[in-house]
Amino acid sequence: MAEHFTCDVLVVGSGPGGYVAAIRAGQLGLDTILVEDGRLGGTCLIRGCIPSKALIEAAEKFEQAGINASGNSEIGLVADKPKLDFKKTIAWKDGITDKLSSGVAGLLKAAGVRVISGWAVFENAKTCTVGDDKITATNVVLATGSKSVELQGLPFGDMVISSTEALDLTSVPKKLAVVGAGYIGMELGIAYRKLGSDVTFIEAAKTILPGFDKQLSAPVSKWLRDHKVSVQIESFAKSVSTKNNKHTLTYTEKNGAEVKLVCDKVLVTVGRTPNTEGWGLENMAIDMDGAFVKVDDKCRTAMRGVYAIGDLVGEPMLAHKASAQGEMVAEIIAGKNRSFAPTAIPAVCFTDPEIISVGLTPSEAKDKEVDVVEGKFRWAANGRALTTGTADGGGFVRIIARKDNGLILGIQAVGKHVSELNGEFVLAIEMNATLEDMAGTIHAHPTLSEATMEAALSALGHPIHSV
Ligand code: FAD
Ligand code: NAD
Repeated sequence: MAEHFTCDVLVVGSGPGGYVAAIRAGQLGLDTILVEDGRLGGTCLIRGCIPSKALIEAAEKFEQAGINASGNSEIGLVADKPKLDFKKTIAWKDGITDKLSSGVAGLLKAAGVRVISGWAVFENAKTCTVGDDKITATNVVLATGSKSVELQGLPFGDMVISSTEALDLTSVPKKLAVVGAGYIGMELGIAYRKLGSDVTFIEAAKTILPGFDKQLSAPVSKWLRDHKVSVQIESFAKSVSTKNNKHTLTYTEKNGAEVKLVCDKVLVTVGRTPNTEGWGLENMAIDMDGAFVKVDDKCRTAMRGVYAIGDLVGEPMLAHKASAQGEMVAEIIAGKNRSFAPTAIPAVCFTDPEIISVGLTPSEAKDKEVDVVEGKFRWAANGRALTTGTADGGGFVRIIARKDNGLILGIQAVGKHVSELNGEFVLAIEMNATLEDMAGTIHAHPTLSEATMEAALSALGHPIHSV
């Protein structure tokens, strides 16, 4: 029988934006309903951040085992040639997403949130239908997320896949073409190379990972060269065709020449676009900012009582940004005075080596005409890095600070296993730390984090472990 629910807060979408908003709203005593069409956890938990990191980890372990078997292990490990049971790898990955999804269900329940499964369609700003049911809310939080961009001439299907299918393959493709060498393409392309695919990147920009500065992407480029991955920059994928069970991707090179590449799968990772269609956004009297929903610094839309968060409201399209906005919006609805004004949002790319960028880079500081000092410390001089393999591949930590008062404006790093350092980087910037604060903070030895302290010493002009 059709029902009509009412609530204080209606959240649409259970990704890291929506589920966090719903949990916090529930904790604050607000009568909250969360509507989700798919599985709890959204893109991030089910087909994004988490499954991709699982695949990356499995690929790393497989590559290492192969190195041990080849007799090239520097540490002296000797092993038999590893075999990959890829179906089991995918099942392991699915087990992780299942655990997290049911964990989210448990947290929502504990916070007293009612979860309604189905597709929400708004009739007006405060009322939506989900199947035969109707929900009317005092406040609405839109967290519908984003989807993969599809290229003209390369419709998604059996041969042309998005990241979702790339995380659910039944076998490792022999030849994989990756269109777009940004976050997703690089993370998954490198993982499949480690799993044994012959990988070719086709990238429109002049460089891989165009969102990161060249010093940071250079060690990743070196890894690709060392692993015989072909990278075609300033190139555009045009079409795919299949003849006699043979798939061919056609792309144009920088000079306009057409190239034909035979491959098993084409993974298209050329960005993501917000989910703004099919759920009655047009009935809500909300303003847009290009393709995204327009919000102010409190994530309020043009319609009173309607908030929007996460990928739906623009860059950076990152899970931690979505969650931070979700938590904030719930508190605003509960009457707290909050605004979304982070000094920095960390960006981490889980390539090999990993890249972290927090705050200003040297060239961004220059563009803003801020007079800065820079300090760099190479992993090659860090004891822990030498013992963990982080020192291989030419990585470093770099710190950028104001010249006049030493205020830290940015910290970046590139190196194997360095992603966890992002917490200290972003905390330093949010807490207005100076170079003296970083250099004067005792970091445990031997750890990778000592490199950040050394980079600060270097920016102050008196490094201890480098010249
Ligand atoms: P989403 O997570 O997209 O969730 C939106 C939810 O809304 C979906 O579950 C959808 O089913 C639901 N929905 C939409 N419309 C309706 C409707 N009308 N009714 C009911 N339900 C609806 N970010 C990182 O920070 N780190 C990473 O390592 C990372 N890795 C990624 C790897 C991949 C392969 C991909 C694709 C993305 C990755 N991201 C990563 C990005 C991250 O997943 C997103 O930024 C994040 O999921 C956005 O969260 P969200 O809550 O805005 O929306
Ligand atoms: P992206 O914006 O990171 O990269 C897209 C790449 O495709 C760019 O390098 C772009 O120049 C290229 N491109 C665009 N059109 C092209 C064309 N026609 N032919 C060839 N190349 C083309 O997008 P993505 O990799 O799809 O990821 C989407 C978003 O998901 C990211 O922006 C990020 O916010 C998020 N994400 C984050 C992480 C992480 O935090 N580790 C991981 C994966 C995804």
